Amino acid sequence: MPRQFIDSFGREVNYLRLSVTEQCNLSCFYCRSHPGECGRETGKELLTVENCLIIGQVAVDLGITRIRLTGGEPLLRPDILDITGGLSAIPGLKDLSLTTNGILLEKNAFKLAAAGLKRVNISLDSLNEANFRQITNGGKLQSTLQGIEQSLLAGLTPLKLNVVLLKGINDHEIEKFVAMTIDQELDVRFIEYMPTQGQKKWSHLFLPLEKVMEVAGKIAPLVPVDGEHGGGPAQYFHLEGAIGKIGLISPLSRHFCDRCNRLRVTSDGKIKPCLFSDEEIDLRPYFSDKEQLKAKFFEALQLKPDPRKVASNPVDRVKQFQGTRSMTQIGG
Ligand code: SAM
Repeated sequence: MPRQFIDSFGREVNYLRLSVTEQCNLSCFYCRSHPGECGRETGKELLTVENCLIIGQVAVDLGITRIRLTGGEPLLRPDILDITGGLSAIPGLKDLSLTTNGILLEKNAFKLAAAGLKRVNISLDSLNEANFRQITNGGKLQSTLQGIEQSLLAGLTPLKLNVVLLKGINDHEIEKFVAMTIDQELDVRFIEYMPTQGQKKWSHLFLPLEKVMEVAGKIAPLVPVDGEHGGGPAQYFHLEGAIGKIGLISPLSRHFCDRCNRLRVTSDGKIKPCLFSDEEIDLRPYFSDKEQLKAKFFEALQLKPDPRKVASNPVDRVKQFQGTRSMTQIGG
């Protein structure tokens, strides 16, 4: 009998995002709270490999079937292959994936695949070298593109590219991104920008994803891909005749909280019931006792907020956001 881990509102939770570091080798202006944040040591005690594996084991025992490693930049962890190898060996875990900016994938894609990683999501907000450098505070577009190429060769597929749509910054590149799906087996997913940490000024960057439909629809007719949430937040389409898909993730203009299937664990060992809430439970005191860890997972499950109370327009939704962590501290 498959186990089921169901919250107070009937949502089955089967997905865990496990952050393994807050540090990043890029410093995307919309992701961190201040420019120095990504590169520095935080002084926080990071989850060890053993901590990650016990979290993974307990999660799978409870009914989690998919784990995604995230960060910061997860590939900065020198022991990322040990974490990957250990998690992938857990019986019952069906999917182990990783979210990365791709910079370190050129040298790691094959090693990660050999360690049992199934697939990667790669963040890529611009296809223009200068724009990429500007958004990421100095990153090299070519490194990410090489990382994508190696990941495809290593079979880390289906490969998804994540593009955070930023008004006036990369919206003129929608057409180029969409065109990538025509003859490549890639999913290009556009994500609405979310202000974090009570940011007051955000609307100058926010663009609802209808804009993507508008631009894509001028290239070719758009065909909805049925039943393609795949347990995730994206709504999928493809251009008629295209090999790849276009995904839309609209946390603000069309929230998907009613089908939220996830919990998050931060790299300092806090379990988070909801991205939009400040609520956290510290797992650290319980690593030596699996039963107590399970109890904390259940506590987090019961703290997942009521989806019926979530505002359905971006302005009110942002007002509901209570967060003190930046996205790089949570893991997206
Ligand atoms: N370093 C990895 C990467 O680049 O994918 C993992 C961490 S990053 C925090 C995870 C995802 O969160 C990325 O796709 C990033 O673009 C997205 N993200 C960060 N800040 C965001 C924001 N304010 N709104 C929407 N998405 C955001």
